[in-house]
Order: sequence, then C-alpha cells, then structure tokens
Amino acid sequence: MGTVLVLIDHADGRIRKPALELLTMARRLGTPIAVVLGAGSSAAEVADAASEYGAATVYVADAPEFADYLVVPHADAVAQIARTTDPTAILITSSPEGKEIAARLAVRLSAGLITDAVNLEADDNGPLAIQSVFAATYAVASRVTQGTPVITVKPNAAVPEPAATTCRIEHVAVEFSPAATGTKVVSRTPRTTSGRPELTEAAIVISGGRGVGGPEGFKVVEDLADALGAAVGASRAAVDAGWYPHANQVGQTGKQVSPQLYLAAGISGAIQHRAGMQTSKVIMAVNKDPEAPIFDLADYGVVGDLFTVLPELTDQIVARET
Ligand code: FAD
Repeated sequence: MGTVLVLIDHADGRIRKPALELLTMARRLGTPIAVVLGAGSSAAEVADAASEYGAATVYVADAPEFADYLVVPHADAVAQIARTTDPTAILITSSPEGKEIAARLAVRLSAGLITDAVNLEADDNGPLAIQSVFAATYAVASRVTQGTPVITVKPNAAVPEPAATTCRIEHVAVEFSPAATGTKVVSRTPRTTSGRPELTEAAIVISGGRGVGGPEGFKVVEDLADALGAAVGASRAAVDAGWYPHANQVGQTGKQVSPQLYLAAGISGAIQHRAGMQTSKVIMAVNKDPEAPIFDLADYGVVGDLFTVLPELTDQIVARET
C-alpha cells in the first residue's frame, strides 16, 4: 500500500475533527501523509495532532497567501506536494472550500475527482468511494480511473480512531501560481457563535420544525442540544417563518448533515428535509402525528408532544451526567 495525502483542516491553531476522520479513513488505504497549510506558529501542534491519528510525515507550508487569498494557494501547495510524493490518493474534507480545492487540484494533476464520499474502501484497483445520492435512496460506488484519485469526504463519515506514530515534519516552500493572488480576502467578520458544534461536523444534531410553534419553541430544542453537546438544526418551514437562522437549515436547500444521531422534533419528514439528513447513522423522531412520514425513516420514534418529550429527555440526560 502506498501513501495517502490528507489535507488537514484546522482553525484557531487546532486540528478539526473532520481531519481526524480523514486520517482514520486514509489508514484503510495506505500510510497517511498530512499537509498542514497556513497554520503559522501552531503548525507543530497541528502536526502533532495529525501524528496521533497515524500521519508519519507532515508537510508544513506557511505563507501569507494562505490567509490573504481564497483557495488557489492551497491548491498550488497540495499539487506541488502531490507531485513530489506521488500518493495513491488525496483526501480533502467535503466543505465548500475543500471541494473547490479538490476540483482545482484534479485539473492540475489531470486526475479524476469524486466529491461527497460517505465511505472509502480499499481495493486492488484503487480506492472505492461510496456516495449517497437522490436523498440517500441510492449508494453509489465509484473509482477514479485516471491519475491520482482526488476524493472529498463528508464530515462524520468515520469515527476518529487514534493510532499514534512518530511524526517527521518537512517544511515546504510553495511556488504559487499567478492565479494564487486572483481573489483577495478584504475583510473578516467573526460570526456570533452559539458555543455549539458546527452543524455539518456535529456528532449529534437536534432539529426543530414547524411543530415548535414559534421562535421561543426552540428553547426545548436548544436545551436538549446543550445537554448532549449537540448542534441545533431547523426545517425550512421554521427558518422561513423567521424562527431560527437560515445557517441552521437542514435539507436540500440547507445544509447536509450526517451525524451519529439526528433527532427531528416537530418535523414532518418532507423529501427536501430528508435530503439533508437521511445519511445520519441513527435517526430519532418526536412527532405528535403517528402518520408523519418522518417515522418511515426513523430508527426510533416517539409519538408525543415535543414540549413534553424533549424536556423529559433533557432531564434524564442531565440526571445521568450528574
Ligand atoms: P410541517 O411539514 O408543517 O411539519 C410539522 C410537523 O410537526 C408535523 O408533522 C406535526 O405533526 C408536527 N407537530 C406539530 N406540533 C407538534 C408538537 N407539539 N409536538 C410534536 N410534533 C408536532 N425543507 C427543509 O426542511 N429543508 C430544505 O432544505 C428544504 N428545501 C426545499 C426546497 C424546495 C425546492 C421546496 C419546494 C421545499 C423545500 N423544503 C425544505 C420544504 C419542505 O417541502 C417542507 O415544507 C418542510 O420541510 C416542512 O417543514 P416541517 O416538517 O417543519 O413542517
């Protein structure tokens, strides 16, 4: 088995969970090599975290271009490292930025690209990437047939498993292409954070729909989310009514989530909502209508009023934690 290049997602000097998932999956395909770009003084810390999950070699590149310009400097750096290391696959997190880097990289390397994989399997003829399509009604297995496979993998596709190894850090000076400075970042405004995990990366998502009845109805959803360390999602009906921010919408025209546990409270289960959450590992629904379509795909269902069931659940969870 050869080496597998993993572009490491990091923020605020820390490796992000999707990167640990990629390293865990990369070990199925070969020896992970990590690429850490623009981490500044935190590069060693991020590299150490990568080595805890099996990266024996970590390529580190730092330059103002990574922060000052959008995407292309990252594609330049990974392409340069890929040409010298000749990996058997390149794995990148399926974020909007990750997918753009991957697309540019595939063009540079004349390689095939697969996006939004939810699983990876080793195979003698090259990695098999599994995608979940048409609102998760089909699983498609694909293989890249030209060049080094470039594959983006959705967050939560694997549970991170440590595999500590000794880490060798190699510093790389990147030669940026003329296109690298084509799109400059002119300002950054931090968004007010809820303190909850990022919706697309959270292991548990608790979502509320029209059944919560109004913005104040989300309190019971948030209380349960906080008891579980979960993110809060919302159906489009709740978002369109102005009860919860659009950034939290789950579904076809919202965010795609694939957590270990998804709880839908007061959500009927329309096809457009399912499109964003149907690949969740375990689905639980709370709805007062026993005929609600959400129960067709739920692993666990409670027929009842969410204003009774959710606080009860929260109390039980808090009681177990104390
Ligand atoms: P409803 O369908 O009204 O369901 C509310 C549910 O709450 C009902 O099942 C009811 O029994 C239950 N309920 C009521 N009170 C309680 C209570 N006290 N306790 C327990 N249960 C209760 N939708 C999305 O979610 N995401 C998308 O990205 C999305 N994209 C779309 C794109 C297009 C092009 C279109 C046409 C639609 C899209 N929709 C999307 C909308 C989608 O079709 C549904 O209208 C929407 O998902 C319904 O939201 P809901 O389940 O919260 O509301």
